[in-house]
Amino acid sequence: MSTLTQLPVVVIGAGPVGLAAAAHLHERGIAFTVLEAGDTPGAAVRQWGHVRVFSPWRYNIDPAARRLLDDAGWVAPDIEALPTGAELVTAYLQPLAELPALKPHLRYGTRVEAISRPGLDRLRTAGRDTTPFLVRLADGEEILARAVVDASGTWGNPNVLGASGLPARGERDATRYLEHALPDVLGGDRDRFAGRHTLVVGAGHSAANTLLSLAELAAEQPGTEVTWAIRSSSPARSYGGGDADALPARGALGSRLRTHVDAGRIRLLTGFSVHALTPTDDRVTVLVRHADGSEEAVTVDRIVAATGFRPDHSIAAELRLDLDPVMGATRALAPLIDPNEHSCGTVPPHGVDELSHPEPGYYAVGMKSYGRAPTFLMATGYEQVRSVVAALAGDWRAARDVQLDLPETGVCNSNPDDSATSDSCCGPAPDAEPAARGLATGVSGGLLAAPLQLVTLDTAPAGGQAGGCCGS
Ligand SMILES: Cc1cc2nc3c(=O)[nH]c(=O)nc-3n(C[C@H](O)[C@H](O)[C@H](O)COP(=O)(O)OP(=O)(O)OC[C@H]3O[C@@H](n4cnc5c(N)ncnc54)[C@H](O)[C@@H]3O)c2cc1C
Repeated sequence: MSTLTQLPVVVIGAGPVGLAAAAHLHERGIAFTVLEAGDTPGAAVRQWGHVRVFSPWRYNIDPAARRLLDDAGWVAPDIEALPTGAELVTAYLQPLAELPALKPHLRYGTRVEAISRPGLDRLRTAGRDTTPFLVRLADGEEILARAVVDASGTWGNPNVLGASGLPARGERDATRYLEHALPDVLGGDRDRFAGRHTLVVGAGHSAANTLLSLAELAAEQPGTEVTWAIRSSSPARSYGGGDADALPARGALGSRLRTHVDAGRIRLLTGFSVHALTPTDDRVTVLVRHADGSEEAVTVDRIVAATGFRPDHSIAAELRLDLDPVMGATRALAPLIDPNEHSCGTVPPHGVDELSHPEPGYYAVGMKSYGRAPTFLMATGYEQVRSVVAALAGDWRAARDVQLDLPETGVCNSNPDDSATSDSCCGPAPDAEPAARGLATGVSGGLLAAPLQLVTLDTAPAGGQAGGCCGS
């Protein structure tokens, strides 16, 4: 068997963070293979390609990737502009993946099904450090690796509609009526919504984004109906601070949402938890249970589940993971990003130390590293992979010299109830909550469509809370 260092590092996923890992591995002269389930780079990002991100280009380009692209004569976009997901792919991820330094090491249509070590199940300890990883693909092929950088994201694993975190009764049988978050209502998916009644479930930015698109569609296409269901008793948080909002674009969008609701163009249901789904005559009836125990049935054509995402750790089930029981992130990272504890995800710089599991050489990075916390930013993932790759190269000084430049978003959300149904922790501001420093969150659905201020967070002091979680 080859010695460990002769084997490649396997990177799972060719999204922004997986490709950044590849760029860093190339720079460090470490052999690597990127395995991507989709047919293209940025396969998940393409699926929300119609959404404009809220962090400008300057935060969305990994420094090692940038160096490689610059060397190849890449014409960089305006670093202050806000790309759509589609632009992120065509202007950045695709050219990066095409570079001769990366292209031969990328495999598309290659889904990783499981990771283990040859001859060692999770129970066996002896020889673990010196035995390679075995990465099994969906077609049965097995690849040996010296380390695994799992950048497979969470997009493929949305939260269920059922309020207890379990699927609602009948949810699995009703999938033909269910939409993933952020359908392209005004574009490619228009026919599924035009002239039909859609229920949007969720209180976060993705829900708001979809609701506004549906309201626009309803104005153009008679018979289009929109119902919005949230678990909390008030939509105030989703509306944000209006004119007083720290981010004018966010406030304006919240205000637009409120205007549609006040005018009756969007029917709002509060205190709503999905109990059961029953297909009826080409439509679906949603049985909801209110906080007071009463029940109500709503019959619609489509349901948009804008309820956030969770990581799928099943591919690593034979590895020794030490996951925080709440967040599903590593125990070291979880307290830094837990929306139950923090009013937003102002995350101290972190790297290989916070991402390590008892299983040596396996690192979940990027969106997946955050578990159920909805606060991930590409810039954070780029620093994660820089640190992890430096550690793989044996350069522990660089690995531990973690630093982050993050955009500032102003006001954040601290209500644990809402975090359960919202897809973004840095959501609209409650009236009484003070403005605080925080980083923009991952799944805004484009609501924060305003250029953001730069905040430089230095290395965390002892205690790991530098830059604080919304420390003002
Ligand atoms: C609508 C939306 C807006 C966002 N806006 C911003 C923003 O403005 N700024 C910001 O910094 N962040 C934003 N984010 C958050 C985050 O940065 C992005 O989701 C980003 O794409 C995460 O990158 P990633 O590489 O970790 O994961 P992904 O981009 O999800 O990439 C994961 C890749 O892994 C592949 N994959 C999955 N499972 C497997 C498997 N088993 N085997 C092989 N391949 C697999 C997928 O096909 C995919 O290509 C946004 C997210 C969303 C959804």
